[in-house]
Parts: sequence; structure tokens; C-alpha cells
Amino acid sequence: MAISERTRNLQQQLVESLINDASGQVGVDLESMTFALIEQFGHGIGRDLAAAVEKGLAERQAEILNTTHGQQYDCPHCGRPCRAEPGNRRLTTLDGEVEFSEPKCHCRRCRRTFFPSA
Ligand SMILES: [Zn+2]
Repeated sequence: MAISERTRNLQQQLVESLINDASGQVGVDLESMTFALIEQFGHGIGRDLAAAVEKGLAERQAEILNTTHGQQYDCPHCGRPCRAEPGNRRLTTLDGEVEFSEPKCHCRRCRRTFFPSA
């Protein structure tokens, strides 16, 4: 997916700010820090950022599903139209646990719950 130039500039500023924060912390001795610790810090920031982006995109997708497709979705098992209701969904992603709100449906015939976006 393409990233706009504005976002790329913001990313550069964010990276510089994170480097300043990390190296300026009390008790942080950058001279003696191992690369493993540097890597751990960078990786943690990356995971947090990725999880936040995934959560935001999934919630935006849920809004689109709610507004453009109405409130009823066909059950993937039997085809019966089912009414959507607000729900929460938790996924384990490459970047850890991500929880977001998303419409869900319950088919009374199949006694199964499904997410319209899945
Ligand atoms: Zn069904």
C-alpha cells in the first residue's frame, strides 16, 4: 500500500522524536547499550504502531459495512438474511492482540455468529 509524502514526512519526524526520547531517558546509557536492546525497543514501537493502524482500519471498514450495506447480511452457511448488531472482535495478529468494534450477526437457524467483513 502506498504511503503519501505527507505521511512519510510525519514518519521521519516520529522516528527522530522516538530516538530523542529513547536516548534521552534517565538511566539510558547509549554508549554501552547492546544492539539487542536497541532492537527490542525499535521492534516494540513498530508493533504498537502496526496494531494501532490495524485497529483503525478495521474500525473504518466496519463503519463502511454499516452504512453502505444496510443492517442485514446473508449467513455464510445457509444464506438466510441476518440483522447486524454492534459487537467487539479480538484478533491475534502478527503485531499482537488487536480489539476493535465491528458489526456481528447471529443466524438463528444455524445458531452461529458471523462477522460480515470476514
Ligand atoms: Zn445460517
